[in-house]
Amino acid sequence: MRDAILRKLTYDLGKSRAAAVDRDWFMATALAVRDRVVEPWLNDMRSAYTTGQKQVYYFSLEFLIGRLLRENMSNFGMVEEVRAALSELGVDVAKVIDSEPDAALGNGGLGRLAACFMESLASLSIPAFGYGIRYDHGLFKQIIRHGWQEEFPEDWLQFGNPWEFARPEIAHSIGFGGTVEELDGEDGTPRHVWKPADLVLAVAYDTPILGWRGKHVNTLRLWSARAPDPLRIDAFNRGDHIGALSERMRAEAISRLLYPSDDSPEGLELRLKQEFFFSSAALQDLIRRHVRVYGGLESLPDKVAIQLNDTHPAIVVAELMRILLDDHAMPWAEAWRVTQGTISYTNHTLLPEALETWPVPLMERLLPRHMQIIYIINAAHLEAVSTAHPGNFDLLGAVSLIDESHGRRVRMGNLAFVGSHKVNGVSALHSDLLKKTVFRDMNTLFPGRITNKTNGIAFRRWLQQCNPGLTALVRDSIGPEFLDRPDALTALRPLAADGGFRSSFAQVKRANKEALAALIRRETGIRVDPAALFDVHIKRIHEYKRQLLNLLETVALYNEIRAQPQKDWQPRVKIFSGKAAASYHRAKLIIKLAHDIARTVNRDPTQRDLLKVVFLPNYNVSLAEVIIPAADLSEQISTAGMEASGTGNMKLALNGAMTIGTMDGANVEIHEHVGAENIFIFGLTTEEVAARRLDGWRGQYSIDASPRLAQALESIASGVFSAEDPHRYGELVHMLREHDHFLVTADFASYFDAQRQVESRWSKPDEWQQSAILNTANMGWFSSDRTITEYAQEIWRVPVPG
Ligand SMILES: *Cc1c(COP(=O)(O)O)cnc(C)c1O
Repeated sequence: MRDAILRKLTYDLGKSRAAAVDRDWFMATALAVRDRVVEPWLNDMRSAYTTGQKQVYYFSLEFLIGRLLRENMSNFGMVEEVRAALSELGVDVAKVIDSEPDAALGNGGLGRLAACFMESLASLSIPAFGYGIRYDHGLFKQIIRHGWQEEFPEDWLQFGNPWEFARPEIAHSIGFGGTVEELDGEDGTPRHVWKPADLVLAVAYDTPILGWRGKHVNTLRLWSARAPDPLRIDAFNRGDHIGALSERMRAEAISRLLYPSDDSPEGLELRLKQEFFFSSAALQDLIRRHVRVYGGLESLPDKVAIQLNDTHPAIVVAELMRILLDDHAMPWAEAWRVTQGTISYTNHTLLPEALETWPVPLMERLLPRHMQIIYIINAAHLEAVSTAHPGNFDLLGAVSLIDESHGRRVRMGNLAFVGSHKVNGVSALHSDLLKKTVFRDMNTLFPGRITNKTNGIAFRRWLQQCNPGLTALVRDSIGPEFLDRPDALTALRPLAADGGFRSSFAQVKRANKEALAALIRRETGIRVDPAALFDVHIKRIHEYKRQLLNLLETVALYNEIRAQPQKDWQPRVKIFSGKAAASYHRAKLIIKLAHDIARTVNRDPTQRDLLKVVFLPNYNVSLAEVIIPAADLSEQISTAGMEASGTGNMKLALNGAMTIGTMDGANVEIHEHVGAENIFIFGLTTEEVAARRLDGWRGQYSIDASPRLAQALESIASGVFSAEDPHRYGELVHMLREHDHFLVTADFASYFDAQRQVESRWSKPDEWQQSAILNTANMGWFSSDRTITEYAQEIWRVPVPG
């Protein structure tokens, strides 16, 4: 290994040992590790075809991967070998690992889910491809200046990406615009030919995805946009040097940037182009492969399972139909059977405003043939509906693929629904609500199509790699079985009552907290005591995730401490981290509020360091990997009915944090698994939230009932935390007093009480440790291996070799 790394440094990077910096050692090490992956990878890809196995294709606009060096070393069992090799060279493996930039090709949970799923597919030896976009710039880098978020482009490819293989020979033409010609087919039926006005090339870049113990390797194939002609020579020669490049710039813009939003559709043409670009490239790719191996396309559903990660790739339904009808002359009914049999769709949101729709005129201009096909699908669909439910025009309007009420838009959720054989939600509660709300009518028309697949997380990354201390302790205590079978963690249950084990468990947590304290000091200059309760709220900043509720409680607690400084308070550090979408002003104001509160609280000597508030900038996978093993308390406090699942909640509970949370998303199932005594549940239920909203809820009702809340709001509104701009939060507080859509005020009292229960438990360390251990012991079910096994058996119908 040492020689391999040195050879890479010398011959691939052209660097001497003396001149090499950490980043060079990272590149050389990654290339040396990659060499070991290549042969098994090529073998696994070949055998998937020679054995005729069905393949899974995971279509996702986002893959939030993070770093790969430690994951690959760990999954291949070569961590020690590499550490030793580097140390012989006088290089620290930790620094090398830290030099890898995060591949942040996603916004949050949805993109991270895709990354965990890719890892689990490989770990379970299920042949699979991930298909997405190779963005030049992933999620923006968050820099905090004077407490405000600023966005800077992130440049993960700046120094090259050692994991990927460029495949310039694998390029598909993607059309946009133009016209549809109707020709006479051989048997007299008309044939349609789409003549696009513009063409863009999709070029493949492959990253091998290595499963646990190196048993299997799959491919993540990301597409990069290229112009067919890099330069217009005539224009260049005329002296128009910029104009000569303009077409290229326009084409390549498609894979330039990840849209920094995971919760609302961006009404942008470029976004629709991105969606069609990767969907079409991926379909052409898998169809070419299928035809080469199996001849025709009738057998597609037997050999291919396409999973759509949300509606972003929903245009696949129309594109697959177009390819089957126009390019392969398949009759309509047969093409529809093949399409539905191949595709399934995962829904990620109940928010009506976050369900994608595209204006019909835009679709007609950009994808004219697809629009025709969508009309035909819709006509057949509506005819079936009106035959079954004659005269029910409300139902027709609700289930139509075209929304006529907001200026004619294509409903991508309905398109994905009718084109799929299965539609799934991502937690039990979410799937249930899907049937009752957004897809209520669809569920009546297609009973049994909606199913639940509760999300999971890859335990290799979120336990073994990020928390080696806990992993070693668990292995020494119950043996290594849990590394391959997460359910085996239940063997920890009896140890929760064992004093010796509890203190070892506490020691591991303490060491992780010291590491986080050092990072906090480095990043923010704030000193925190690792003995304090680390209360962690890390996720995208969004009103429904209610960082504001946590901040109000922070202010209320601060007020109480100042009122009674001598009471036996439990020292606490409130840790926030997360990005706000660049255009989401209120979320950015919440970040500013967190900083304003932190500044005031942290400097106040009267509270004697009993409370510290920290905002760690630039939340990403690598930061999460440091915060999560050090957390005592996990904040999962969304308005009930609004978080589809959450996966941060799973990562934290697995690492022995206690959850304070609402009955929302997968919190409901975590509550079931860890037991009611080992989680702090508070707040309104989904039904109660719906009832309040119907009743014309006003925040003032709760504020009148809680002097503590009134005081906290008053101090924010009056500028206690923003003396230089006392009215900064006037509008925010006004919103809470009036309609308070996310019911922050309504849940405040219940949340405040739950936090006092947290303190009371924390004051009895034995009880706290016992509950923390039982969290880790009972979280095995939330492995993404379990989730993927369910998809494989119930949706894709592929064997799970294990
Ligand atoms: C897990 C994860 C998320 C999702 O967190 P939620 O709490 O479920 O919203 C978002 N971002 C990163 C970097 C993650 O690792």
